[in-house]
Amino acid sequence: CLPRYRSPAPRPWLATAVITYLQVAATVLALQYGHKDTPLPLVFLATVVLARAWFPLRFLMPGLVISLLLVVAAEVAMARGQLRYAPLLAEPVVTGRPLGWWWAIWVRVIYDIVVVFFAIALFFIFGLMERRHRELEELSRHDILTGLLNRGSFMRLLEDEFGKQLRSQRPACVMMCDVDLFKRINDRHGHPAGDAVLARLGQVLGAAVRQPIDVAARVGGEEFAVLLPETSLPAAERVAERIRALLAAETFHGEGGEFRVSLSIGIAESCDGDGEHALRVADANLYQAKRAGRDTVVASRSPAGV
Ligand code: GH3
Ligand code: MG
Ligand code: MG
Repeated sequence: CLPRYRSPAPRPWLATAVITYLQVAATVLALQYGHKDTPLPLVFLATVVLARAWFPLRFLMPGLVISLLLVVAAEVAMARGQLRYAPLLAEPVVTGRPLGWWWAIWVRVIYDIVVVFFAIALFFIFGLMERRHRELEELSRHDILTGLLNRGSFMRLLEDEFGKQLRSQRPACVMMCDVDLFKRINDRHGHPAGDAVLARLGQVLGAAVRQPIDVAARVGGEEFAVLLPETSLPAAERVAERIRALLAAETFHGEGGEFRVSLSIGIAESCDGDGEHALRVADANLYQAKRAGRDTVVASRSPAGV
C-alpha cells in the first residue's frame, strides 16, 4: 500500500481495504482463539500501530469500527450464552494445568512472531521518526528562501555567543543589513525578482563570512543580520564592505529589465556580553546609514552608538 499511497496517482481506497482486512482478520482470529488470554490481540494492535504510523487516521477508522462492533457483538452473544468463548479451542484456555504442547507452540509461535515483527517494525519506525524530527528541526531553524538561519535561531545563537564573550572578553560584532528601496524593486520588477534578490543576497552573505564561525541570518523580510564572534570593528567593516561590493557587482533581471541592488549596513562592536543591546545599536546604525543616503556602512562601538 505504501508506495501506492505515496505515488503521484495514489489509491487510498486500496490502503483502506488492506488495513481494514488485516484489522478485521486479526479481530476474528482473536475472537476465535480467545481475545482475553492469547497474544492475538497483539496482532490486532500491531496492525493498528503500524497503519497509524504510515497512514492518516481515516484509513484505519473503518477497520477499527468494524473490529469494535465485532468484539461488542461477541461479548453480548457470550453473555447470552449464544457463543462460546474461543470456539476454535477445544478446551478452556486457562485450566490451571500446564498448556497442552500444541497450544503452547501455537501461542509462542504467534507471540514470538508478533514480538519480533513488532520490535523490528518499531525500530525502523522510530528511526524514521527520528530522522524526520531532525529534518523538521532543521527546517524550523532555517529560512526557506535563502537557506540562512531564521530570526529565532539567530537570537538564540546571539545569546549563546555573547554569553561566551562575558568570559573571553574579546570583542564581537553584530551587523544589520537591509536592502535599499526593496519595495520599489518589487513594484518595478515583480515579487519573484525581489525573491531572487533575497536568495542571492543570502548566498553572498554566506560566502562573505568566515564559515562556520560567523553566522548570517534572515531576520526580517529584506533584513539580514550577521554575527561576527571575536571580531574587531575594523575587521567587521571590511566584511561589510566586501558584502556591499559583492552585491553591487550582481546584475538582476526582472519585469522592468536589468537592475542592480544596494545594501545599507549598520555594525555594532560589543565587549559587554549584551547581544540584544549590540543588535539594537547595529539597527540604529543601519537607520543612520539609510539617513545618510543608503548604500553605505555605519559602524560604532556599543553602547556608544545608541
Ligand atoms: P529602505 O531603503 O528604506 O529599506 O526601503 P525599502 O523599500 O527597502 O523598505 P520597506 O521596509 O518599506 O520595504 C520592504 C519591502 O520588502 C516590503 C515588502 O513587500 C518586501 N518584502 C518583505 N519580504 C519579502 C519577500 O520575502 N519577498 C519579496 N519579494 N519582498 C519582500
Ligand atoms: Mg526593512
Ligand atoms: Mg529596505
